[in-house]
Amino acid sequence: MGFMLKIVAPDREFFSGEVDRVIVRGIEGDLAVLKNRAPIVTPLAIGKIRILEGDKERIAAVTNGYLSVTKEETTIITDAAEWPEEIDVERAKEAKLRAEKRLKEMPEGLDIARAELALKRALNRLEVANLK
Ligand code: ATP
Repeated sequence: MGFMLKIVAPDREFFSGEVDRVIVRGIEGDLAVLKNRAPIVTPLAIGKIRILEGDKERIAAVTNGYLSVTKEETTIITDAAEWPEEIDVERAKEAKLRAEKRLKEMPEGLDIARAELALKRALNRLEVANLK
């Protein structure tokens, strides 16, 4: 017996099911959730999520959000989530190039943090897409 995991993105319920373990990228590093973990609410960074269920492992790209663990269930509310096969590699490559160009040219008024985050999202998606 594992625990219930729900992952919700703005446009869909991304995942719902019983799992044994989940590993997420918190803003202070990776965080593993196992059954009976102490309740917590914590922000998530841009990174991978690993969902383990028996000997099955699923990986997805996750863009920010929150992790909430209660006795009843673990919930992730995220800005975006994609399975490897859903990732449009061309789109992510373009987003990467766009962000890299901005950061290289540094036009006046560039929001550097925003460009860096766009680059991070693109690199994360490209890494996850490679796992399919
Ligand atoms: P882009 O500049 O290409 O829009 P982005 O990082 O700004 O990329 P987000 O704002 O993180 O995109 O995501 C917006 C929506 O588009 C989300 O639903 C996300 O799942 C989806 N999405 C973004 N990039 C990709 C991609 N490369 N493949 C598939 N879905 C994507």
